[in-house]
Amino acid sequence: MMPTAKHASLSGNLVLLGFGSIGQAMLPLLFRHIEMNPGQVKVIAADEDGKEIANALGVNFTVQALTEGNYQTVLESCLSKGDFLLNLSVDVSSLALIQFCWRRGVLYLDTCIEPWAGRYTDRSASLSQRSNYALREEILAFRLDKRAGPTAIVTNGANPGLASIFVKQALLQIAADNDVAVEKPTCYEDWAELSMRLGIKVIHIAERDTQISGQRKQRDEFVNTWSVVGFVSEGLQPSELGWGSHERHWPLDAGRHGFGSDAAIYLNRPGAATRVRSWTPLEGSYQGFLITHGESISIADHLTLRKNGDVVYRPTVHYAYHPCDDAVLSLHELAGKNWRLQRKKRIMRDEITEGTDELGVLLMGNEKGVFWYGSRLTIEEARQMAPYNTATSLQVVAGVLGGIVWALRNPSAGAVEPDDIDYETVLEIATPYLGELVGVYGDWTPLRDRSPLFAEDMDRDDPWQFINFRVV
Ligand code: NAD
Repeated sequence: MMPTAKHASLSGNLVLLGFGSIGQAMLPLLFRHIEMNPGQVKVIAADEDGKEIANALGVNFTVQALTEGNYQTVLESCLSKGDFLLNLSVDVSSLALIQFCWRRGVLYLDTCIEPWAGRYTDRSASLSQRSNYALREEILAFRLDKRAGPTAIVTNGANPGLASIFVKQALLQIAADNDVAVEKPTCYEDWAELSMRLGIKVIHIAERDTQISGQRKQRDEFVNTWSVVGFVSEGLQPSELGWGSHERHWPLDAGRHGFGSDAAIYLNRPGAATRVRSWTPLEGSYQGFLITHGESISIADHLTLRKNGDVVYRPTVHYAYHPCDDAVLSLHELAGKNWRLQRKKRIMRDEITEGTDELGVLLMGNEKGVFWYGSRLTIEEARQMAPYNTATSLQVVAGVLGGIVWALRNPSAGAVEPDDIDYETVLEIATPYLGELVGVYGDWTPLRDRSPLFAEDMDRDDPWQFINFRVV
């Protein structure tokens, strides 16, 4: 059934920056669930994609690419105290926008910490500077002395975003299934303590997208179910993972950043060329890409326990992404061309004929087995619930909607991550759009059914070592 409840109201203006696959998917839900009218909204994007959708919904549409040189002038003319900047663009610095919003008393939300165009592939920058770890540390440094103030939620889509919330829900479920009595955790240390007690050593953000269309990928074309530019950018950043305290085998191509929380490491290779073994209940075992993502770092950081300054507990956390089949073919072609992006780009939407986005978190190490908790959303369900959506985009905008509602109800929370905010509110708002929200146990491990045909470097004493997941 189509959800219709109004969750909050906005009296000021809202600028929707970026109107690609996620912006278009989001706009109708804004009017459905927030008390506001189309006259309050202005879309700003770098191209005309989706203009007819904005027009059909009565929303003003301006084509204007923001740059370091013009963003303040452009935004000053349309945002002031009490307004909202919803950033669903690529190539615009999240930090610059947050600083701008802070000064003007504007609320802010994005789904990814973006830098200005060019930093991801800047050859004069170190691997560390091109990482999501560094981008996150810049936000954390900004907020050091600004704990209260206009709310700015970073990285709040599905993943990053709902993934942090799924982890909390999964931990509580595993605790209940193990008869571990827990008080409701109230701070990071409580969650970390619970995760340690339950024996969790590894957390994957385990996603298998099976959406397909009759229109196959052409040669020299990159096809995906969300931003091609966004996916290729993150795929060409160094692979990154939250580095667990149980790990005994240091990857030869790994580096530490040498500043900040030290919760994560990077590999000297792009995520688009780094495969890992993982598991989801519908797909079973699969090989996904270890693409860098904000949640790998923030979840690992928030689940760290220290004693006398030393880390005594942290799980290994990373993405294991099996994108839609045409995106896998696209990545293969991209790698063959030495990472030179294809001439044509296509985000599949209306042409999708079938498929499901199975997106959740896989918690490993508890004696009951691995536990996957997340959303299984089919393309048919997504279309029934919201126009201009795919299964992928609807999971993302469900998280965005939850974040917007939380920000409107908590307008002076300062800069926060999904791990910092009230997971129950966000989950309650998002759930009607997530299809089947399930927790499933399995007996899979990365050592299971490994082929004996070739010798492999493995640690058979502890299945949860990163060395056992990584495909070399
Ligand atoms: P898209 O490529 O379809 O659209 C990008 C939009 O940004 C376009 O409207 C484009 O015109 C606009 N844009 C590009 N450069 C700009 C500039 N300089 N100034 C203003 N606008 C500019 O992307 P999408 O699929 O809609 O994704 C949007 C964002 O959401 C990306 O950052 C992506 O990484 C993120 N995302 C997050 C999640 C999540 O779950 N957290 C999932 C999917 C996408």
